[in-house]
Amino acid sequence: MPVLVMKFGGTSVANLDRIRRAAKRVGVEVAKGYDVIVIVSAMSGKTNELVGWVNETSPLFDAREYDAVVSSGENVTAGLMALTLQEMDVPARSWQGWQVPVKTTSAHSAARIEEIPPENITAKFNEGMRVAVVAGFQGVSPEGRITTLGRGGSDTTAVAFAAAFGAERCDIYTDVDGVYTTDPRVSDKARKLDKIAFEEMLELASLGAKVLQTRSVELAMRYKVRLRVLSSFEEQSDEAGTLVCDEEEIMESNVVAGVAFSRDEAKMTLISVADRPGIASIIFGCLSEAGVNVDMIVQNISEEGRTDMTFSLPTDQVSRAEKALGELKTSGGLNFAELDTELDVAKVSVVGIGMRSQSGVAAKMFKVLSDEGINIKVITTSEIKISVLIDRKYMELAVQALHDAFELEKAA
Ligand code: ASP
Ligand code: MG
Repeated sequence: MPVLVMKFGGTSVANLDRIRRAAKRVGVEVAKGYDVIVIVSAMSGKTNELVGWVNETSPLFDAREYDAVVSSGENVTAGLMALTLQEMDVPARSWQGWQVPVKTTSAHSAARIEEIPPENITAKFNEGMRVAVVAGFQGVSPEGRITTLGRGGSDTTAVAFAAAFGAERCDIYTDVDGVYTTDPRVSDKARKLDKIAFEEMLELASLGAKVLQTRSVELAMRYKVRLRVLSSFEEQSDEAGTLVCDEEEIMESNVVAGVAFSRDEAKMTLISVADRPGIASIIFGCLSEAGVNVDMIVQNISEEGRTDMTFSLPTDQVSRAEKALGELKTSGGLNFAELDTELDVAKVSVVGIGMRSQSGVAAKMFKVLSDEGINIKVITTSEIKISVLIDRKYMELAVQALHDAFELEKAA
């Protein structure tokens, strides 16, 4: 029988009532003839609570025990979902990650899925089980320890199962009814997209749109898993939500598909570092070892063999970066005059595969910002996106102005 993967996020399983609603949706697909793999998150708020308990018990925690604790929220919802389905006379059972097994790397709290052998679950489907309820977000390392996939990881569990089982589709049930041209809380003209290409979704997710874990989109793109994002609070229909799919499936699309933003950015500048081979490698090698995720990088024009190096990073990594660079200076590993930090910046990006073939998008974006009197601090581009770093207080204004200028409220 064809397989369907249905993933329910934390708000969709927040209490017994919602679990019942979700189970009914599963029942509808079972009645259509699908064998269903249901991936569940923990009840909303649960994972945060568990993380809090770990931090309170042991600030420099052993990551293996962190995973043992924070993966437990999903075990509860998996069991409850299986029981609810059984009450509806749907043959179902729960599976924890290690039971499947979901084999991952040993990078605790940020593990990657390496393999999901389908045999165990398939054998149960062959015996008449109709729904396998799998605890999302978790797996097992080669050492036999419980791992987790990073926050939001159940999305990735869902896509990985869809790939492993050749599922017809992977439906991600959440609290929004799809992917929007921008966050509707920032622009009231935001429009829900019927379809979006994998690559666009990948950029939007990594640039700050929070609907899907970035890694899940990466996997969906690699294995061509058709991914549908839809709300568990609205009536079900085959057209509901947003389909994330191959660009070939999209006939018409705007040059710009969406405007993404990320509020909690910081900008750091190393003033007066030597301009010679190896310097960038020393600076960014040091930051990477300290676990800092550097995003935009600009090297300024050099004068008399010295230059300034600017980069952006998430605000909550600033102290780690300052410490690492400070130590590098003290140890004689790098000479610089000053380290300048700006904490109140934000990143705004426009994304669209149409940019590959249409020029002028950057020029238009910069004009819009200049008309609003917004100063651009750093710019980066890729084939299908342009990002700027600006003062945080102008972020909403920039998003609205760009959404208007590129007429994203209108479909192509
Ligand atoms: N429960 C985990 C989290 O809150 C994983 C997930 O829901 O995707 O991050
Ligand atoms: Mg999520």
